[in-house]
Amino acid sequence: MLARTVTHALVGLNPCAVEVEAHLQRGIPSFAIVGLADRACQEAKHRVRSGIASAELDWPTKRITVNLAPAGLRKEGSAFDLPIALAVLAASDQLPPDALEDHAAFGELALDGRLRPVAGALVAAEGARRAGLTRLVCPLESAPEVALAGVEPVAAHHLAEAVAYLRGERDPPAAPAVYDLPDAPPGPDLADVRGQERARRALEIAAAGGHNLLLVGPPGIGKTMLARRLPGILPPLDDDAALQVTRIHSVAGVLPPGAGLVRVPPFRAPHHTASAAAVVGGGPGPRPGEASLAHGGVLYLDELPEFPRPVLEALREPLEDGVVSVVRVGGRAVFPARFQLVGTMNLCPCGARGDPGTACVCTPQRIERYRERLSRALLDRFDLVLAVPRPRGSELAGARGESSTDVRTRVLLAREHLALVSSPLADDASALLTAAVERLSLSARGRARTLRVAHTIAALAGADVVGASHVGEALSYRPPAELTA
Ligand SMILES: [Zn+2]
Repeated sequence: MLARTVTHALVGLNPCAVEVEAHLQRGIPSFAIVGLADRACQEAKHRVRSGIASAELDWPTKRITVNLAPAGLRKEGSAFDLPIALAVLAASDQLPPDALEDHAAFGELALDGRLRPVAGALVAAEGARRAGLTRLVCPLESAPEVALAGVEPVAAHHLAEAVAYLRGERDPPAAPAVYDLPDAPPGPDLADVRGQERARRALEIAAAGGHNLLLVGPPGIGKTMLARRLPGILPPLDDDAALQVTRIHSVAGVLPPGAGLVRVPPFRAPHHTASAAAVVGGGPGPRPGEASLAHGGVLYLDELPEFPRPVLEALREPLEDGVVSVVRVGGRAVFPARFQLVGTMNLCPCGARGDPGTACVCTPQRIERYRERLSRALLDRFDLVLAVPRPRGSELAGARGESSTDVRTRVLLAREHLALVSSPLADDASALLTAAVERLSLSARGRARTLRVAHTIAALAGADVVGASHVGEALSYRPPAELTA
């Protein structure tokens, strides 16, 4: 007796169809899973057997062989539990012969037969849709992701429930309404930031032009507070970007249960003790890293020089190409990773340098070592470098700042302007830039970056020509001489 179910394995963000065949033969009762299954997948034997018993279904006293095809593809994780259980039930006539037609399945089984969500349900459902399957048997928590892919979820809390649906004994619950997050600025509001006019301005420019931003200054002056407010002034993700971000978050297992499309640009802030695999991706699976989880949003690296050099170097690929490629068994997985980088650093390890009223206790050698950790190549990636001063007491007592909603309105207009118009450079602006190239010995890259920022500043002003004042302001965001020496 033979029965089949279809499920999808994840290869990066792509689904790969896997046929689960259950073959029952007479002989000494046994249960084997073949077809390049990893350990978690081998352990399905215990969960499936116990789950079927807990659902008050019969465990066949036969020689049971489950084959996962194609054999060349490595099967990882626990999402095969449910398709294996259904194939065994179908092969032992506990499901009608055509019950699984047009169905895929994806989910883990608990020992008591409950269905547990597994990361990547959205991608698995997209695979089902591409394979022409119209329904997917899954845990309740995965239903919104499955519906998002345009596949009807047959969502159940327990294996017994799923079997009852498939036997036609009861109707599956109605497909959940897929909700989008509200189109309001997420997270903390810029209105909470008092004073810091120059930093607010730099955030606005960074948002409008998608520029990378480095905040330099002593600890405890609100650099993190500023950075956290960047996603709130970015435009919401469009349909394609939202789906891609949702896919990445689904595969990484960080999508909140029941969530629909992620519309809000993400903000990810890995700690400097995070491994290279955690930051750029990798490990078993492989899983997307923080750089990919920040796709469409902001990657925030607080205390940039504290990150190990290999981690910072590994960020060069996503910074240049907007993707991360991870070597895996049998090939490479590619994850999108197009983010805005916001970093912070002090001018010295103790943080007192550049902070009037405090005395630096660092030796010149320590300062040199600290700054050397940040390669010139990485420093070059920051279009905007801003020295953030300690706010004065009078500023902190001042009125609330402009709200994120108001700033975002200008950002949206500037983005439209940049997309539609290519503003020419005024003569005096061109002369100013040429003079700066000589005076600051700007590299070709540095010049191009300054020009890009000047275009953004002009767009924010609604100007059709990039003027000297725009270039002048762009030049004020060059790294301080101490960092480039
Ligand atoms: Zn110091």
